[in-house]
Amino acid sequence: MDKIRKMISVNEIYNVLLLEFPFFKKINEQKRKILCDRTKEFIDGTKFIPKKGMEFTNRMKILIAACSQQLTLGFKKYYEYAYFDKVIVYPEKYFSTITGRYHTGEMNTAGIIVLSWEDFYKGISDATDAHNVGLHEFAHALEFMDISNEDIDEEFSACLDKFTALADHYLHSQPEKPLFRSYATTNLSEFFAVATEYYFEAPDAFARQEPELFKTLSWAFKQDPRSITKIKKTVTAKSGEVFGSYIPFLNYFGEVLLYTIVIVFSIFMAVSLPVVGAIFLVGAFYLMFTYLFKDSFTLHDDYVKIHQPLIKRVVKRIWPSMYKYETNIDYADVLYVTAQEFDFNTERNMLEHLKEGYWYTLCYYQGGKVYYAKQSTNDKDYDSILRFLYAEKKVGTRLNGNYKKYR
Ligand SMILES: [Zn+2]
Repeated sequence: MDKIRKMISVNEIYNVLLLEFPFFKKINEQKRKILCDRTKEFIDGTKFIPKKGMEFTNRMKILIAACSQQLTLGFKKYYEYAYFDKVIVYPEKYFSTITGRYHTGEMNTAGIIVLSWEDFYKGISDATDAHNVGLHEFAHALEFMDISNEDIDEEFSACLDKFTALADHYLHSQPEKPLFRSYATTNLSEFFAVATEYYFEAPDAFARQEPELFKTLSWAFKQDPRSITKIKKTVTAKSGEVFGSYIPFLNYFGEVLLYTIVIVFSIFMAVSLPVVGAIFLVGAFYLMFTYLFKDSFTLHDDYVKIHQPLIKRVVKRIWPSMYKYETNIDYADVLYVTAQEFDFNTERNMLEHLKEGYWYTLCYYQGGKVYYAKQSTNDKDYDSILRFLYAEKKVGTRLNGNYKKYR
């Protein structure tokens, strides 16, 4: 009986949030329901450990859990911080023997969030002062899950790469009248955590003063806490190609030739050996969709050109809504580029010029969706191309899967 009384219902969560969680008042009924359900899920999967003999109530659990879910409300999955299963709560600022200072909260890489209740509550009560230790620590938690390859929203992860490149530039050329409080400049992690507080609690000033950083965070969190105003795209005129030599005629010719071989051979197989033919055809389509439907890209001085395979262009003509995205995109929309080394020297029968080099994958954001384009090259100067992207175009870069800074 006692156990049943202690359980937290979605109804109880709704009532507490309506009364004490300002963010809750700003979102619609549909989002409120999601927030309540996820808050309950977080509570059910988390061990709350009160310290210094403090009395810990359902209301406190609900507010802490809701703060974590405010941050990930735009995510479709991986919103529950699966890696973090403990929340330690002190009644007020606590002394850390590691730093020798008093703390308001911390993210512990062992999967623990630590909070001072007094400071946490102050943080959520005033939703416009850009101070929110709850959001701050849960932002650290998300970033930690990203860098340690825990389950994390893929789009969030891609946008965080872009944000880190932008943040690095910000820290190297700080504005005279900075928007963020000075603690943000401690390092890239603190910059992200503090920027997250500003994103939710001072979104108008943030969007006005640092539009690029703001836009990238709005992609990352997939929610916009201010009245939505569109940021204008600025793709400039055609300019010199810097990477990715692309020969349309040869590419199209190769593509058409391959389709022809696949179809003719499939029909032949289907006529004489129907079952085998059908299996072959399914396999052929699988290969076509897996390998041939990929876009490629070339980098230019001022923009990125996305080259679509012939078949995509044909489909686009017949069915325009299928691939409606732009093929010329701004560097501001590029989230990251990865370079992955390939080495076929040990294998037989490979074309001489394709023996070793790099596969590049470009990840960009358009119309609320993340897209990928690829490019392979035997050009060994991957470092200069990643440096060009990182240092000049403020694009996140990864080499062999690892985030890389170029300065
Ligand atoms: Zn911090």
